[in-house]
Formats: sequence, C-alpha cells, structure tokens
Amino acid sequence: MTEVERAGVHKEHWGFNDEGQQEILLDPTPPARTQARLLIHEIIHGCYNATGDLANNAKLGEEDVCGYLDKQLTAVLLGNRWLFDVLEKAIHEDVRIV
Ligand SMILES: [Zn+2]
Repeated sequence: MTEVERAGVHKEHWGFNDEGQQEILLDPTPPARTQARLLIHEIIHGCYNATGDLANNAKLGEEDVCGYLDKQLTAVLLGNRWLFDVLEKAIHEDVRIV
C-alpha cells in the first residue's frame, strides 16, 4: 500500500488491516467506542486470514470457525499486552484510539 493509499484509507473504509505491513489503520474521526469496535473487527479479520485452513474451507461449521479464531485472538492478546488497556479506555472513558 502506497502512502497516498494509506492516507486515504478512511475514505473507503473505517478500518483496514494491512497484513503486508502487519498494521491496522483506523479512521480517526469516529467516536472512541466505534473505534474500539472497528479495531476488534480488523483484529478478527487478521485472525481469520491467519488461518489458511479456515479461509479456504467453506465446509467448516461455527464451532470449527470459533475454535480457530479463539486461538488466533488469544495469540494477539498474548503478543499485545497494551491492547486491553486501549480498548478499555476507548469503550469506558471515551479516549480515542487514533
Ligand atoms: Zn470487515
């Protein structure tokens, strides 16, 4: 993604998971709680795409999908100790993420 594309990402999406850069971009204009939801949404996209099995297998049921995603989300939380604090402040204290 070029810098121009990065700067304009919020015009087409409120959030974007740039997996090539391992970075999530968020629109800075929505309220904090909406930003928290968007961040969680983009993390879930990353978890989904990290499981090649999941993305390529339309026959998986809900429990299988949740089983894949719980492992991925747990890994995200293990690797990003700051994440709960950021979400807590956005959701309960109206502190914007970006
Ligand atoms: Zn989405």
